[in-house]
Amino acid sequence: MNRRAPNLLLIFAAALAVSCSNSEPIVANEKEDAVEGRGADTDKWWDALPRREWGAYERVLDSDPWFEVYRISPDTYAIYEPGQFEEVISFLIVGETRALLFDTGLGVARIEPVIASLTDHNVTVVNSHSHYDHIGGNYEFGRIAGVDDPYARSHMSGAPNETVGEFLRGDWVWKPLPDGVTPDNFEIKPYAVSETIADGDIIDLGGIRLEVISTPGHSPDSICLFDREGRRLFMGDTFYLAPLYAHIEGADFSNYKASVERLAALQTDIDILITAHNVPVADGSYLGRLHDAFEAIEANRADFVETDGAYEYAFDGFSIIAPAPNE
Ligand SMILES: [Zn+2]
Repeated sequence: MNRRAPNLLLIFAAALAVSCSNSEPIVANEKEDAVEGRGADTDKWWDALPRREWGAYERVLDSDPWFEVYRISPDTYAIYEPGQFEEVISFLIVGETRALLFDTGLGVARIEPVIASLTDHNVTVVNSHSHYDHIGGNYEFGRIAGVDDPYARSHMSGAPNETVGEFLRGDWVWKPLPDGVTPDNFEIKPYAVSETIADGDIIDLGGIRLEVISTPGHSPDSICLFDREGRRLFMGDTFYLAPLYAHIEGADFSNYKASVERLAALQTDIDILITAHNVPVADGSYLGRLHDAFEAIEANRADFVETDGAYEYAFDGFSIIAPAPNE
């Protein structure tokens, strides 16, 4: 999905809604119009790179040209894919006895060798949700813990080139693709879930305990991982510092709002949010601001711009794109 600063043109969001929902591909001229229209003062989205926020972290393992890997805390690595428009970030959390990979990225380059060079522990994959840019490397792993949800299950068969090839074409990508990978053969490969997780489950990595919190809204199968001792919350696409998608196929504004309400109740126990696009960390106070934003939208107190049947409501540091209310 698009992870630009707020105020992006919504035609762009419409194109990405298709990408996110994994439905029929958009046609090329729509996509190019959208990409050219993005950004207040740049023609190319990658002109915003490198994002200065990454400068706060130690970069490790720069051997694979597709990924940028950063240690964002002593036990957590961010695996960032800045070469493609989503700028998606997967996170490896390394406990004393096992490790957890929260999302596997686009599947453009193989992520498993990167993970293997970061930890010797057994690695379990958990997905924040099953949009294409978070599950691309799932096929490389034998241990995948997933929610028992029809929407999640529907993505386990992968996505064909006809659906996702578009996202490696034209202005979607600025980096050279790995050898052998082309827009004509890129696909999301099928994968198998080896165990089920559910709301309230605790995943114990040894010294790190992650609580699964079901947060439907952006998608039906969205989850967050709460590290209570570490006072941090892994957000997936439920929050990041860019437009949030509550309008796409599979999204549900009321569920999203309810999930945010639940998360906001945890705010006093959370210092930082770990976010899955553009930049890896946001202040925990955004949970309260996100809650206020949903309240303001529901009460018709928020300013918006309208386009293509959706409303984008702008707030400080992020925006929410929601379906237009029924007249
Ligand atoms: Zn998503």
